[in-house]
Amino acid sequence: MPVAATNSPSKPARKTVSSEVKLARLGLHTDMDLVLHLPMRYEDETQVITIEEARLHGGDTSQVEGVVVKNEITFKPRRQLLVHIADGTGELQLRFMNFYGSQVKQLAEGTRVRARGELKHGFFGAEMVHPAYKIVNQGAPLPTSLTPVYPSGEGLSQPVLRRAIGEAMKRVDWTDTVPAAVRAALQLADFEPAVKLLHYPPQQIDEHALADRSHPAWTRVKFDELLAQQLSLKRAQHARRAKGAAVLKVAGQLSAQFQAALPFQLTGAQQRVLAEIRADLRQPYPMQRLLQGDVGSGKTVVSALAAAQAIDSGFQAALMAPTEILAEQHFRKIAAWMEPLGVKVAWLTGSLKKKDKQAAYDMIESGEARLVVGTHALIQDAVVFANLGLVIVDEQHRFGVGQRLTLRNKGNEGAIPHQLMMSATPIPRTLAMTYYADLEVSVIDELPPGRTPIVTRTIDQNRRDEVIERVHAAALEGRQVYWVCPLIEESEALQLQTATDTHALLAEALPDLHVGLVHGRLKPAEKQAIMDAFIANDMQVLVATTVIEVGVDVPNASLMVIEHAERFGLSQLHQLRGRVGRGSAASVCLLLYQSPLGGIAKQRLMTMRETTDGFEIARRDLEIRGPGEFLGARQSGQAMLRFADLETDGWLVDQARDVAHELLHAGTPDAMATVEAHLSRWLGGREEFLKV
Ligand code: ADP
Ligand code: MG
Repeated sequence: MPVAATNSPSKPARKTVSSEVKLARLGLHTDMDLVLHLPMRYEDETQVITIEEARLHGGDTSQVEGVVVKNEITFKPRRQLLVHIADGTGELQLRFMNFYGSQVKQLAEGTRVRARGELKHGFFGAEMVHPAYKIVNQGAPLPTSLTPVYPSGEGLSQPVLRRAIGEAMKRVDWTDTVPAAVRAALQLADFEPAVKLLHYPPQQIDEHALADRSHPAWTRVKFDELLAQQLSLKRAQHARRAKGAAVLKVAGQLSAQFQAALPFQLTGAQQRVLAEIRADLRQPYPMQRLLQGDVGSGKTVVSALAAAQAIDSGFQAALMAPTEILAEQHFRKIAAWMEPLGVKVAWLTGSLKKKDKQAAYDMIESGEARLVVGTHALIQDAVVFANLGLVIVDEQHRFGVGQRLTLRNKGNEGAIPHQLMMSATPIPRTLAMTYYADLEVSVIDELPPGRTPIVTRTIDQNRRDEVIERVHAAALEGRQVYWVCPLIEESEALQLQTATDTHALLAEALPDLHVGLVHGRLKPAEKQAIMDAFIANDMQVLVATTVIEVGVDVPNASLMVIEHAERFGLSQLHQLRGRVGRGSAASVCLLLYQSPLGGIAKQRLMTMRETTDGFEIARRDLEIRGPGEFLGARQSGQAMLRFADLETDGWLVDQARDVAHELLHAGTPDAMATVEAHLSRWLGGREEFLKV
């Protein structure tokens, strides 16, 4: 081999063991895992230029080759190794601040070195700081392909990874798991050449297509990844259907009475989605439906009517919400609707006294409670349902996949409860399709009548006094005000402190008003007492941390002030703002910001000023943040795609979905073998994560 050594200092003999462990930490267990660990970028070591040329290029990364003419360790300003190389066109200094004794020897005078780095013009002339280098013999051939740079982890050097991947590539079974007919129809590249090309792209490759991942080799890999995901999701769907669910009859007596007793008419959109849900509940397999609707669109009453259908059919329903305030509010509202009709509603949250908790468990297990409303407490082991037929999850994106699964598993043997998830955050279609292949979506795209649009203004926070004036004026007109304290992600204590200070300041500035404070550290009873005072309009101004983010419903509150609005994300701001504009009074939202604003913050605040449409906001959010972050890591779990990009590869999702459908419906032994082979190649043991 012409390359005599690399710049990774040699390590002790334990190396193989420890690098295996390190590879495992990256999730690389099998040869195929390694083969599918694709480069994130490449380095071009295929060319050497002269030191003189490199000097002229300046700034760019370049590779030069020369013989060491000087090698010294200096101590000013700190210990460093300075190596000079010359190639006949000029001299170049290589500077190493961290180095091993072995490197000093390796780079002895007379040694031929290939160095790659950014050439800078320093005080002592041209130099490269910490270049990558190799000791070579004269005339050593240059690589003919680009050098892959892999995503790596701590202590795992590129040479070790490259070697492991190169070895794995010699051992794996390269059989193409996508049938030839499919490849031909979709003009997909073959698996083996595509993957090999991505590891070792030839020098003449279209580097742009490689970098932006539009090269046919990338397309093939992305297709495979998406196909695996679609196959897995569809299989999970079949398994779920095979298990069966209770058939919940069409709305009966309770549903009719309940609907008749409502103080309002359902909107057209509510009626439509209710019909969709009712039809699902009648099926002998579990519903998996997402109910999307902007804040204030009236999802709760729709879910309560779905619960009524379950109860009418003799089953229990459970509603889980992410925060205690939200859950309690649902409970109060739903109990007020249902209890007059003779339906027992149980309330369950972690903060209940032991005795009350036990009483709730008993009611749930005996079946006396037909409907249970609560927080995460609902998924505790101690909660046993008599016959759970319907699970409703509010603000579903705030729960982890595992939590939703646990609640769903509380059905009876052999039957899975129907599942209704609710969210005010719309999920773009491609995302919905990749994360839940079999999710049905219902959309409430209409607000109840009589709402007036919210006017949003952005105000520099040094005009706080004017804002306080405005709060005062609004309160004197009989309106109520939310004052939301800044989000301080790094420190809950600091956030609390800020809220307390703001409360004190406002109480002092507005002595004729009752100013309250609610935050996450309060005991539930204290929290409730404050919310009650606000609901009853005994309190005009409510200073709050983001605990009011979801679901709070006080129609008389029509002014909202959000401090340091630049710290919040778009969907958070939208949720917060949705707390006003619920009554007939014209509502106003004031976003206080601290200047100067960063680019993203500016875009967000502008979006808030321009639109109140949750779908439009979600679309812009996607634009600003990109889909990867959209649902958060918690939501996507291991299902996160590594290669496909949902923004640019939506068309591939459609193709993968169709192929998955064809393969599974063909049902022939060949097709099934293909499915198995493809899934085991791409998901290995990780399939479980996709089953929710
Ligand atoms: P969200 O979709 O944000 O959960 P809610 O279910 O909390 O919305 O409803 C917001 C408010 O609108 C509640 O006070 C609810 O009682 C009321 N509401 C719901 N549907 C209607 C309707 N069709 N007409 C009038 N008010 C309604
Ligand atoms: Mg709600």
